[in-house]
Amino acid sequence: MLARAEVHIDEIDAIRTSISKLCEGFPGEYWRKLDRENQYPTEFVNALSEAGYLSILIPEEYGGAGLPLTAAAVVLEEIQRAGCNGGACHAQMYIMGALLRHGNDRQKEAYLPRIASGELRLQAFGVTEPTSGTDTTSIKTFARRDGDRYIVSGQKVWTSRAEHSDLMLLLARTTPKDDVAKRTDGLSVFILDMRESLKSGMSIRPLRAMMNHATTEVFFDDVPVPAENLVGEEGKGFRYILSGMNAERILIASECIGDAKWFIEKATAYANDRVVFGRPIGQNQGVQFPIAKAYAQMRAAELMVQRAARLFDAGENCGEDANLAKMLAADASWAAAEMCLQTHGGFGFAEEYDVERKFRETRLYQVAPISTNLILAYIAEHVLGLPRSY
Ligand SMILES: Cc1cc2nc3c(=O)[nH]c(=O)nc-3n(C[C@H](O)[C@H](O)[C@H](O)COP(=O)(O)OP(=O)(O)OC[C@H]3O[C@@H](n4cnc5c(N)ncnc54)[C@H](O)[C@@H]3O)c2cc1C
Repeated sequence: MLARAEVHIDEIDAIRTSISKLCEGFPGEYWRKLDRENQYPTEFVNALSEAGYLSILIPEEYGGAGLPLTAAAVVLEEIQRAGCNGGACHAQMYIMGALLRHGNDRQKEAYLPRIASGELRLQAFGVTEPTSGTDTTSIKTFARRDGDRYIVSGQKVWTSRAEHSDLMLLLARTTPKDDVAKRTDGLSVFILDMRESLKSGMSIRPLRAMMNHATTEVFFDDVPVPAENLVGEEGKGFRYILSGMNAERILIASECIGDAKWFIEKATAYANDRVVFGRPIGQNQGVQFPIAKAYAQMRAAELMVQRAARLFDAGENCGEDANLAKMLAADASWAAAEMCLQTHGGFGFAEEYDVERKFRETRLYQVAPISTNLILAYIAEHVLGLPRSY
């Protein structure tokens, strides 16, 4: 049984209050230090796990809260709104969908209760490769069947949180692209025990990036994976990954809304406080109008995110709405970031205000997990009926 489809408004309010309280324990200086040292927010992720928020989508029978995506979206939004960074752990929420929807009973019983209790982390999602990029069906990582196991060889890039995860959801080819009728066939999904794989041919290399995101490259040199770790049917993995993408887009969009709210609140406070030419800078229309505009943009995107989450929870087709929500929310957070930096003038560049850190962090969502161009291509082709452009 999957999670329930609705969440009461009182539950949403309680989640907002409780996350905001939890985040008070992780103020700007905590994140600044980690950012400077490129370290993982272990204490923050432990606190969220212990409070049960990372297992919010796991059905109650497996030890989770069994709440719908709308509730998970609120968790991530509030984390970002408080100035924290859910990127350290958000993947567990959307990766799990593949296991929930397509895993067998044995896999669910083996992993879900231990993920729910915090004993196991499912934080790594191995899809992107250096040569294929957005063209996922061209990935080269190959899993060759050998008796009761598969042997995996290849390379992933931008595999975030791999060093802080026990399990990875891995997409690999099991039939060469040239041997399948449709290029989306012949791809398979595996749940990989990374602790075992690290002893038998898998290696992880950290990839330093513009923001502190614990991202890595992962190399597979004939890594054995038990055949029982195949999720669903061999060759159908691409559709399993696709089925999780709407959830991923809605959750990332909620993070963007949280970021936009943080930037707007931060800019408003600063514009009221900072006095230049004998009056608060926020008294100037040239300063207050961009803040008001960013607010309007955020509110419009927020409605789209809420609508997409509602459709998802009702089991309706939400492809268009999830894509629009992701693009509009990422645009709203980026516009708010730009406005907030400008409102702060020179101090926007100073580390201690946290604006430059959040500015770098929110920029990611124009590119990952799906770039704006590819969303526009989806809308053009699947919603408007224009010719496929790639
Ligand atoms: C910090 C970070 C964390 C990430 N974490 C993960 C992770 O945990 N797991 C994972 O699997 N991946 C992860 N990614 C990868 C991310 O999903 C990809 O970077 C993203 O999907 C874009 O792919 P690419 O970088 O290969 O760009 P490319 O596919 O090389 O595209 C480059 C540019 O060209 C544009 N472009 C390409 N094709 C077209 C086209 N047909 N029409 C119009 N424009 C086009 C794109 O929009 C983009 O702007 C992460 C990336 C980053 C930066």
